[in-house]
Amino acid sequence: MSRIDVNHVWKIYPRGNVVAVQDLTFTCHDKEFLAILGPSGGGKSSTLRMLAGLEDITRGEILFDGKVVNHLGPAERNVALAFESYALYYRLNVYENIAFPLRARGMKGPEVDKRVKFIAELLELTPYLKKYPGSLAGGVQQRVSLARALVRKPNVTLLDEPLSHMDQRVRHELRARIRHLHDELGLTTIYVTHDQAEAIALCDRLLIINEGKLQQIGTVEEVWNRPANKFVAYFIGEPTMNFIPAVVENERAVAILTDEGKRVFTLEGNPGRKIRRSGSDTWSSAPAR
Ligand code: ADP
Ligand code: MG
Repeated sequence: MSRIDVNHVWKIYPRGNVVAVQDLTFTCHDKEFLAILGPSGGGKSSTLRMLAGLEDITRGEILFDGKVVNHLGPAERNVALAFESYALYYRLNVYENIAFPLRARGMKGPEVDKRVKFIAELLELTPYLKKYPGSLAGGVQQRVSLARALVRKPNVTLLDEPLSHMDQRVRHELRARIRHLHDELGLTTIYVTHDQAEAIALCDRLLIINEGKLQQIGTVEEVWNRPANKFVAYFIGEPTMNFIPAVVENERAVAILTDEGKRVFTLEGNPGRKIRRSGSDTWSSAPAR
């Protein structure tokens, strides 16, 4: 079992008093692939680093399988990590970099060899196994970092923009392989990205975060068709939604003022649908695209 609960978690960096994450609450279920999506500076990496145990939690609790892990370090949490910055061991060759987490857990030679070769083949790293990271291009180093994260079965696999330095062709192919491995090995994966196409291609559910605050969590279908607020509606979708100022006539009609006078639009379909007001926004529970 690898269920993760984040309960009212805050991250305030003392330096500059930056509130990076505010009162964040969500669950990642066992074997789920959860994508955390949001603009740059939204608090995605801070959230992931707190899950990994690399960053203190200012307030709130993180639980793995119902147990609070706030005070446990990364090794005790048994998490696998791959970050945008590769954090490889530059004095070890690619083979030993990938083997590292296996050896650290006491795995012996032949089993290590089998696992390293399997993952290297899958991520097209076989030709590089004897090379040292410093001699490799950024995209290849990032693949090594990903291989190191995926080589064993941890409680949770945390990936922070792991494909960002790769070219388009490789990215598309690796997406499919990451998802395949997740399914094959029965992993629980939290994947951070600012690229919605990547998030949508990979995830079971999407968590949208902006300015450190949870905006919405749900399946792609839910987030796409029922955005919880104007930020999500604007952020998700290709092309993005159009917004037109309108006034609420009643629960099932809005009016738009035009040069020719007022035009009233009524909600069609399901009679249960109503127009909601939220703050200054007029908001339909079933926005038209
Ligand atoms: P994202 O990964 O979504 O781009 P981050 O979690 O990296 O967002 O950053 C969220 C906010 O926290 C930003 O305003 C960023 O400048 C700030 N921040 C991140 N790391 C630190 C740090 N170590 N010290 C101070 N502020 C930080
Ligand atoms: Mg980041």
